[in-house]
Amino acid sequence: MKHLLFAEDRDICLHKFEDSHQFNGAIVPPTYSNTLFIYPSFEKLADANSHKHDHYVYSRGMNPTVDLVEKKLAALERGEQCKTFSSGMAAITAAVFNSIKGGDHVLVVSNIYSTTLKLLKYLQKFHVEHSVVYSTDLREIEQAIRPNTTLMYLESPTDLYLRLIDLKALANLAKTKSIRTIIDNTWATPLFQKPLTLGIDIVVHSASKYLGGHSDVMAGAIIASKSIIETIFSEEYLLHGAILVPDEATKLLKGLRTLPLRMKVHEENAYKVAAFLEGHEQVKSVHYPGLPTHPDYELGQKQMYGYSGLLTFEIYSSAFERVAQVINRVKVFQIGVSWGSFESLISAPNYGTNLESLRQEHINPGLIRLIVGQGDAGELIEDLDQALR
Ligand SMILES: *Cc1c(COP(=O)(O)O)cnc(C)c1O
Repeated sequence: MKHLLFAEDRDICLHKFEDSHQFNGAIVPPTYSNTLFIYPSFEKLADANSHKHDHYVYSRGMNPTVDLVEKKLAALERGEQCKTFSSGMAAITAAVFNSIKGGDHVLVVSNIYSTTLKLLKYLQKFHVEHSVVYSTDLREIEQAIRPNTTLMYLESPTDLYLRLIDLKALANLAKTKSIRTIIDNTWATPLFQKPLTLGIDIVVHSASKYLGGHSDVMAGAIIASKSIIETIFSEEYLLHGAILVPDEATKLLKGLRTLPLRMKVHEENAYKVAAFLEGHEQVKSVHYPGLPTHPDYELGQKQMYGYSGLLTFEIYSSAFERVAQVINRVKVFQIGVSWGSFESLISAPNYGTNLESLRQEHINPGLIRLIVGQGDAGELIEDLDQALR
C-alpha cells in the first residue's frame, strides 16, 4: 500500500478558493442557479462579452458555483485551468474534438473505457481514424504511431487489466513527435496520480465516480494548460453546451470535501480484497496495481500516490454461466454498473452475447469486476469466499 496524501490537496478539498465572508459568513458557498448576469452599463456588458472566458455573462459559459469546483479540480491536478461538463463522456468528447480534425489518426494506448472507444469509432464518419495498440510497452507504442497521428489517448491503470503506462516516458515520446496526449485519470483521482506533472497534455475525468463519490452526481472535467482550456471553452464548451449545472456543481463540491477520507478507505479495503483473492484457489489471477506481485508495481510506486477501489480478477472458467453464477451468489456486493461511491459492486464485461467484441478488445470472458466500497473489508471478503466456493 502507498497512500501519500498531500496536505495541500486536503486544503483544496476543504477550504481553498472559498471566501465565506463574501456571503454573510455562509460556510457552504451559495449556489448561483441564475442563467444570466446583468451589468450597470452597455459598455461593461460589451467588454465582458468579449472576454467570456473570465467574466460572468451567461451560465452556459461562466458561473461562479461551477467556477469554484473548476478552480479546485485544476489545483488538485496541478493544472492551470479546468472546465467541467455534464458527464465524463461530455468532457471526453470535448477533449477529443478539440484535438483532432479530418484526416488525423488517434492512437489508443491499450484498453480504455468502452464508450470512449465507441466515440472514436463514431468519428470515422468525419474521417478521423484510430487504432489500438494492445500493449503498455513503449517500443510497441512507438511502432504504432503513424505519420498522421496527432493524438494519443490512454488510461493508466488501463481499463479492466489495470496495467500501468510509464506516463513520463510516453509524454516525452509524444512531445518529440508533436502528438497531443489525453489521459482519463478517473481511476486514480487527482489525489493518487497527477499526470500533468509528468508531461501529459490533458487530463479528463468522469466526476460521476470518486469525485462526486455518492452515486448522485453526473459530471465530467477537463484539466489542462490555460491555452488549451481557452480554446476548449470558446469552441467545444460553448458550442456543445454540455455544461455542469450549478446545482450539480454544489453536489460535486460536497463530494470533494470528503475525497481524501473516502479514498483512504477504498485503498485499504481494496488491498485487503485483492490480497485475499490472490490466495484463493478458485481465482486464476488478480489485477490490482497495489499488489506487490503486479507486473507494474515498481512503476506504480514511482508515478502514483495511492491505489483506488476498482479491481478485476479471472476465474478458471470463461463460460457466461459460471461468471453469472459467481455474480448471482454474492450478498454484500450489489450487482450494477458504474463505480466510485460508498457501495460495493460486482459485474463483468461478459454479457454472454458479446464474445466477439471481447475477443477484439483482448478481454478474457472469465474476467469479473469488483468495486470495493466503504463497507467492512472482512465482510466483503467473506461474501466473495462463499460466492466462489
Ligand atoms: C464512467 C467512466 C467514464 C464516463 O463517464 P460518465 O460520467 O459516465 O459519462 C469515462 N471514463 C471512465 C474510466 C469511466 O469509468
